[in-house]
Amino acid sequence: MKAAIVTVGDEILIGQITDTNSGYIAKALDKIGIAVHEMLSISDEQQHILSTLSALQNNVDIVIITGGLGPTKDDITKHTLCEYFDDELVVNQDVLIHVETLIKQVLQRTASQMNKDQALVPSRSTVLFNSVGTAPGMWMEKEGTVFISLPGVPYEMKDIIVKEVLPRLITKYKRPYILHKTILTYGEGESIIAERIEDWENNLPEFIRLAYLPSPGRVRLRLSARGLDEVILRDGIVAETEKLKTLIDDIIVGYEEDETLEVVVGKLLMQQQKTIAVAESCTGGKLAQMLTATAGASNYFKGGVVTYSIESKVNLLGIEEAFIKKHNVVSAQVAEAMAAKAKAIFGTDYALATTGNAGPTKEEGSADVGTVFIGLATPKGVFSEELKLGQPREKVIDRASNKALEKIYK
Ligand code: ATP
Ligand code: MG
Repeated sequence: MKAAIVTVGDEILIGQITDTNSGYIAKALDKIGIAVHEMLSISDEQQHILSTLSALQNNVDIVIITGGLGPTKDDITKHTLCEYFDDELVVNQDVLIHVETLIKQVLQRTASQMNKDQALVPSRSTVLFNSVGTAPGMWMEKEGTVFISLPGVPYEMKDIIVKEVLPRLITKYKRPYILHKTILTYGEGESIIAERIEDWENNLPEFIRLAYLPSPGRVRLRLSARGLDEVILRDGIVAETEKLKTLIDDIIVGYEEDETLEVVVGKLLMQQQKTIAVAESCTGGKLAQMLTATAGASNYFKGGVVTYSIESKVNLLGIEEAFIKKHNVVSAQVAEAMAAKAKAIFGTDYALATTGNAGPTKEEGSADVGTVFIGLATPKGVFSEELKLGQPREKVIDRASNKALEKIYK
């Protein structure tokens, strides 16, 4: 069973909006065992939509289209579907009542003709009810291929996918199950991990596959099992995860699909009832942002400062200017002083500090581009580490923040 996702809209092609619909739909289809074969973004142009549909008709079993269902002239998907299926638009009474009620409730007025036109659907389509908007989704079939057209607005699209599309697809196609298990690791690159688990990977049962998903400082390992018997898949994943654990237990930090370093660090601080603060220079607030991304962060994160200049390091943190000048602002000593001051000011168990040159340029007498010092103040003392993070700037900031958080984990 193969699916394609088509997002329609000139806004996507000129980079004004980023297509997030495809990713959402792909994940939803994957969960019910339908593989996405192709994703396409195309213009709001009738000929282009028509040629795309007819090309996909021969290649896939399911085509999901988003966008272009609005009432305005630039939205042409519905008319194009009529053309493709040689059909005509008719009023769907249920949708009409829904549109009139929704307009009354939300806008406190009666529906205009343009609003009412949302109730027009191809006569041979099955309406996919949109409970949160006025444009209904539509399901049409041609020579064994299902075409599903959905609004472009993400929350409307999601509502219809969950309530209307997935249940219908599950009923129509009895799908093999797919189960995933994600294992989050820190501190080793993917090639080192691959070497350490090579024998195990080579001996995985046929229905289980392994994927490496690396990002700065971390590698997510994803086990996917695919087959008809859910129990066999589940047992297989559990058994293989246990084996993997014995091989790389020292670098595994979590098992949840959306677990990130910040989530893991937050859980750890919460468990140990410890608190943390930050004093940031080159990361510009990224550390604080990461530490506050999870609900409940106030239990362990007490606050932070972004001291981006020498003056602010002096005035806000109380580090002596002469000390900074003596050691250089990008130095182990300054990173440690920043961490120690933040720990004292916020009264926390731990404090992290960053100072570095994220680039792209280096001023005379300053540190090389990509040089970052991480400072860590703990109940046992103050430590620092020098990192050489290269370029570009975004990567330096990203990696420095990750490396700093890793210090708490380790
Ligand atoms: P409307 O009734 O709002 O016109 P529509 O079905 O005609 O809905 P579009 O006009 O294509 O949809 O898109 C409406 C808005 O939805 C866009 O301006 C954009 O913000 C968002 N959107 C559309 N397609 C996508 C996509 N592929 N990914 C993310 N957002 C999208
Ligand atoms: Mg529109």
